[in-house]
Amino acid sequence: MNPSALDDQLVHSLLDAAAADSPTRWAVRDATGRWSYAQLADRAYAFAAWLRAHGVNRGDRVVVQSPTRRELVAMFYGAARAGAIFVPLNKAMKQFHLASVVRDADPALIIATPELAGNLRELDAAPLHDFDDVCLEVLNMSRGPRSPQTVEVWPTDLAALIYTSGSTARPKAVMAPHAQVTFASRAIQEEMQYRPDDVVFCRFPLSWDYGLYKVLLCALGRSEIVLADNESDLVLLRRMRETGSTVLPIVPSLATMVTLLAKRSDDPMPPLRLISNTGAALPAATIDTLRELFPGVRVVRQYGQTECKRITVMPPEEDLDRPDSVGRPFRGTTVRILGPDGEEVPVGQVGEIVVEGPHVMPGYWRLPELSAKTFRHTPGGDLRLHTGDYGSVDVDGYLYFEGRRDDMFKRRGIRMSTTEIEAAAMDIAGVRAAAAVPPGNGYDLTIFVESDLAPQVVIKELAIRLEPAKVPAACRVLETFPLTLHGKNARQALVEMLEGNDR
Ligand code: ASP
Repeated sequence: MNPSALDDQLVHSLLDAAAADSPTRWAVRDATGRWSYAQLADRAYAFAAWLRAHGVNRGDRVVVQSPTRRELVAMFYGAARAGAIFVPLNKAMKQFHLASVVRDADPALIIATPELAGNLRELDAAPLHDFDDVCLEVLNMSRGPRSPQTVEVWPTDLAALIYTSGSTARPKAVMAPHAQVTFASRAIQEEMQYRPDDVVFCRFPLSWDYGLYKVLLCALGRSEIVLADNESDLVLLRRMRETGSTVLPIVPSLATMVTLLAKRSDDPMPPLRLISNTGAALPAATIDTLRELFPGVRVVRQYGQTECKRITVMPPEEDLDRPDSVGRPFRGTTVRILGPDGEEVPVGQVGEIVVEGPHVMPGYWRLPELSAKTFRHTPGGDLRLHTGDYGSVDVDGYLYFEGRRDDMFKRRGIRMSTTEIEAAAMDIAGVRAAAAVPPGNGYDLTIFVESDLAPQVVIKELAIRLEPAKVPAACRVLETFPLTLHGKNARQALVEMLEGNDR
């Protein structure tokens, strides 16, 4: 492969390309200002030089915990250029997890804002730098001449560690090499087609891959990203309008919030043309409401796991087709459905979703056993991601998601998933959020809803929509839903409510 093809696989090459042909286009905006692609590239170069000056070598981890500010974007690209591994941590991560994550990442240095630094200082894990001080030093360095690139970075080098929670007791890190990250970014962009006149309103932190890749997609599209993670919910619509936002990445809880605000507002709506969903299934009723509120908008359904970034996307121009599908795999990637014996099942039959392609990450950081279970090899020797999720494909290769392994359970001898029960609940007019908890120690199948409806009304409506075994025994109405740091339903908190009250 020629050297420039190798370079194209590096994360910072995406920014270099945008800065070369679109230097004056706006790249990134936060609550206090915005930078063009040239300004962002200057900061990224300077941060790479700053890291080298502080003894950071190729392969060293750089942990950053800060609110989502535009300097964080420069740090991501700068760390990549320096050959370092960027480890963005959610600013809301609690000490309990922080301690194990920092120990696990084993960083060469840590950067944090003063309000977060206290927790990190206690850990005494690596030299700790103040975020604002670093930004100032980097700004000064960016005014001088660029120091030459001295570190050779390879596509197989890790660009980031993305910590995710889930099936393990403590967060685990997915290793994200440059080649996989840039392949996935280009594959998503091929479907989503971000444009130079797009403004992408990003409500998610860069510690979640959904937020982090928005930065890369914007570079590919020469679009502007608005970092809106720190904004209050109440001003969301106004900020979208002020910034002229055309693209809104959502998860279902954010969609519910946006539709509520939009229904109450008399002001003109922001000029959204594209809304994309991932993280959990978006109920059909919410999609319909979004389409009514933002006429002409495309609502793109997607499905992904950090372990390969994204698995399927429903192309925007097909957003009204196959309403139950989460889309099709990217060009050059494959989704297979395997039965319990590991053999592919026929079209339409449900089995485990496994993924092959250049976007499959090489494993979990320092967790060889778990990695070997999740990332297995094909007979041809390629990596294959066993998602632990269940679904089926149709004759045209479109995927239908059934649920996570953890979501599947049996009740009265019938196999079902929390996803289908939640979808039925969200179909009831007046239900704003829903989460089902399978039968457990001392409690039966329970549905939690955010709604003004009485619990018995919800159960009655569910009985109309679901076969008897799938109708929850109880319904609890909550004022606000416990959510994870990424806006997904925090099921564990709901389980604890049941265990606490019902035992
Ligand atoms: N990585 C997923 C995606 O972007 C999001 C998730 O982890 O739920 O589709």
